[in-house]
Amino acid sequence: MQLTFLGTRSSSDRFNARHRRHSALLIEGPRGRVMIDCGSDWLEELPQLAPDALLLTHAHTDHSAGLARGAPCPVYATAEAWQSLLEYPLADRRQLATGQRLTVNGLLVEAMPLHHSLRAPAVGLRMQADSTCLFYAPDVAALAEPAAALQGVDLYIGDGSALDETLLRREQGLPCGHAPIPDQLQWCHEAGVSSMIITHCGEAIIADEETVCHQLAAAAAALNIDLIIAHDGLRRELC
Ligand SMILES: [Zn+2]
Ligand SMILES: [Zn+2]
Repeated sequence: MQLTFLGTRSSSDRFNARHRRHSALLIEGPRGRVMIDCGSDWLEELPQLAPDALLLTHAHTDHSAGLARGAPCPVYATAEAWQSLLEYPLADRRQLATGQRLTVNGLLVEAMPLHHSLRAPAVGLRMQADSTCLFYAPDVAALAEPAAALQGVDLYIGDGSALDETLLRREQGLPCGHAPIPDQLQWCHEAGVSSMIITHCGEAIIADEETVCHQLAAAAAALNIDLIIAHDGLRRELC
């Protein structure tokens, strides 16, 4: 399984050469190419990218507005996300439901509940191919069921929006927004996940990635977690 981080920018307007495009991941395996999320940055390129399937984590525009002119493949999203995407001209809409596993081009996919937004409810995606299991949560304030979400996960790909709690808030008693990266490291530590890649990079990383990288490397090393910050175009081979 080959991973390509097509984009690694958050919804913030700030970007640089390493984090120019909205966060999206391409997973290529023997049975096809699956793209995850498709923000407005990808509107023009989607026909050339030509994935065999598209999975959406949620309906915020930095994850879904690249579908405004349609998609060349089936698109999987939760019923809640579809409610926000009714106007998009998508011919092949498929349902993602939490607690239900499905196979998408050879990838075993399970949507896991998490907290991020009341207006655009999001899920994390557990995906397994061969013996590798990864968890993708580019936007997450808290995991609803951390043990179930992260059990047996080899690689956690998480939310790089913030280093601290500035983007975390509570609405109707629920956590919303974006969890600090150090909190996500702690989730991985508690679940025994040994590898983490940061995507959806926010202002702290855009402003001074080197300093952030040093801070996080120390925190990750203390927990025995291998951590890197992804950049647009980063490729990783998983077997
Ligand atoms: Zn986002
Ligand atoms: Zn979001």
